[in-house]
Amino acid sequence: MTQATDTRPAITRCVFCGKLNRVDLARLGDGPRCAECHKPMRFDRPVKVTDADFDTVIAGTRVPVLVDFYADWCGPCRMMAPILDEFAHQRTGEVLVLKLDTDASKASAARFGIRGIPTLIAFRDGKESRRHVGMADRRVLDGLVS
Ligand SMILES: [Zn+2]
Repeated sequence: MTQATDTRPAITRCVFCGKLNRVDLARLGDGPRCAECHKPMRFDRPVKVTDADFDTVIAGTRVPVLVDFYADWCGPCRMMAPILDEFAHQRTGEVLVLKLDTDASKASAARFGIRGIPTLIAFRDGKESRRHVGMADRRVLDGLVS
């Protein structure tokens, strides 16, 4: 692969103003900034998505995407959170990690047939590639996006 073709477009949310930005994860070294508020974009943590923007983010992202379908009241989901944070941090620029609150975004949860949480679904080029239901350790997360 040549330098010119190594682009990794992704859509992610500015942690400061909440605006969705289209970025190239292959060029993180350039220090991309939010188009709206001009603050630096952060890529090292899970990004919250909702029914309103889920499809836009998945369709506009060409790196593997891992979505955590969770709920605030779910104990195993809370136990998963630090594992997911670390995963997002260590795979910055390679994998986009999203979190979807299944109580707030019922349409997406229904569309993907979420019956138990946490459910982790990996997407590639806009399509579901793998899923895992229940607690997952780091090895499982790496396997889902491999
Ligand atoms: Zn912003």
